[in-house]
Amino acid sequence: MSSYAMSPLMGQMMSKPMLISGLIEHADRYFGNNEIVSRRVEGDIHRYNYRECHQRAKKLANALAGLGVKMGDRIATLAWNGYRHLEAYYAVSGSGAVLHTINPRLHPEQIAYIANHAEDQYLLFDMTFLPIVQAIAAHCPGIKGYIMMCDRDKLPAEHKIPNLMAYEDLIEANSADFNWPVFDENSASSLCYTSGTTGNPKGALYSHRSTILHSYASSLPDGLNVSARDSVLPVVPMFHVNAWGLPYSAPLNGAKLVFPGPHLDGKSLFELFEQEKVTFSAGVPTVWLGLLTYMAQNNLKFSTFKRTVIGGSACPPAMMKTLRHTYGVEVVHAWGMTEMSPLGTAATLMTKHLELDDAGQQAILEKQGHVLYGVDMKIVDDAGKEIGWDGKTYGNLLVKGPWIIQSYFKNEGGDVLEDGWFPTGDVATIDADGYMQITDRSKDVIKSGGEWIGTIDLENVAVSHPAVLQAACIGVFHPKWDERPLLLVVKKAGAEVSKEELLQFFDGKVAKWWLPDDVVFIEGLPLGATGKILKNKLREQFKDYKLPTA
Ligand code: AMP
Repeated sequence: MSSYAMSPLMGQMMSKPMLISGLIEHADRYFGNNEIVSRRVEGDIHRYNYRECHQRAKKLANALAGLGVKMGDRIATLAWNGYRHLEAYYAVSGSGAVLHTINPRLHPEQIAYIANHAEDQYLLFDMTFLPIVQAIAAHCPGIKGYIMMCDRDKLPAEHKIPNLMAYEDLIEANSADFNWPVFDENSASSLCYTSGTTGNPKGALYSHRSTILHSYASSLPDGLNVSARDSVLPVVPMFHVNAWGLPYSAPLNGAKLVFPGPHLDGKSLFELFEQEKVTFSAGVPTVWLGLLTYMAQNNLKFSTFKRTVIGGSACPPAMMKTLRHTYGVEVVHAWGMTEMSPLGTAATLMTKHLELDDAGQQAILEKQGHVLYGVDMKIVDDAGKEIGWDGKTYGNLLVKGPWIIQSYFKNEGGDVLEDGWFPTGDVATIDADGYMQITDRSKDVIKSGGEWIGTIDLENVAVSHPAVLQAACIGVFHPKWDERPLLLVVKKAGAEVSKEELLQFFDGKVAKWWLPDDVVFIEGLPLGATGKILKNKLREQFKDYKLPTA
């Protein structure tokens, strides 16, 4: 794999490969009694510990071997965050097979496409997703069998799913006597398809080495900062870039894991946070919206929750302030991509920032942040020339590092690197201290009279208005300027604000020529499979919209 020169004097340390099985072995041996708690699809709460998780993962590994699963085979999951899904993470990758986590929120046609493209051999799924499995089974001839993650008595009496098995039968029938195989750490471990807002989804194929390095780096104090004193509740799904690596970094550090299953509404989450003394969580902005609305309506406060990572799309400053000031929760704004395993940057302060007042600190925390060691980044202009780090000039963001994609699975899309760097498709600034701030996705940026208008800033201003729940800004055709911003707004229940009041609210907060040309109030925004606003859908919906200024 390596094409680098060898020194005449090589180091003399052991060269034990970094394998995912090592994480669960470590958690069993050194944190065996630490808990894993899951709210199950069945409705109840399940609790056990890392030792029992390891035992069951080995039983599942034996079961998979019995089904003929070989190294490199792809084994798919359609599952929520839960203990059985965690067992599959370790059983599949630990055996040398490849865990392919499929996003169940995708359209069944897309799921079938992905499963066929990946050449999945077996599919493990939560009971909730039985209808999806029934819809795709006939279109996925390559899948040899389906494992429903439940007891036998929950299997449907009638179905047309070939070779349907109950997960608990497999666990019961197999021994926990299993030695994890040792192999090259560059072997593939897991596969995630990008959400693919345009064209077919493409696969990011992680390796054991990239996963372990990402687990170390993401655990650092200025990253997720996960420790054996934490009770970690990943709201981010295990089918969205491996829940940002938490199923790996929690056992690496011996943290308690709390899985919410399918119950992601504000009430269920709040109860689980309190019952399981959650200290740390991670998720996209939309899930916090639900939780914070529920807490405000019921006048609730957290008793143990102290830190959360928010990423996946820009965290609105208003949300960050509410979490920090009203609820005393530290917010780490992070940025990354499926192609980056996913973590690239996180916003935390340096010593010199501790002297700043709250507004000064908030301004830094609102950025997407500093790289974690291992990731290198730069911004370039359209000709590919590097742009200076002044915190103002924006350019196309490129990254490289050992947990960043080199090429998509089956080389879809051909060579993706530019001179060894991965083009992220994001537009960003970097300041003199190395803090990166995303202006926009390059395809969402509004091109007005040859200049660029970043939509994230406009949306952040809109959602800081007390009557606004959600906002999205898109460019629509303008005869003079090519494109001008149109602001689409969802109001909070029972709140009122007029178009004129909202536009006035922007005064002094953004450059005058950035002001949206119009505001349209709508009932809801279309969300994609990972909880992000689907701007391409909005652009399609409003493509013939006539601006009053046009
Ligand atoms: P995905 O691969 O689905 O996780 O999407 C990755 C993309 O999400 C990135 O390229 C960004 O455009 C966007 N993204 C992720 N985190 C952030 C963030 N903190 N702020 C703004 N955009 C983000």
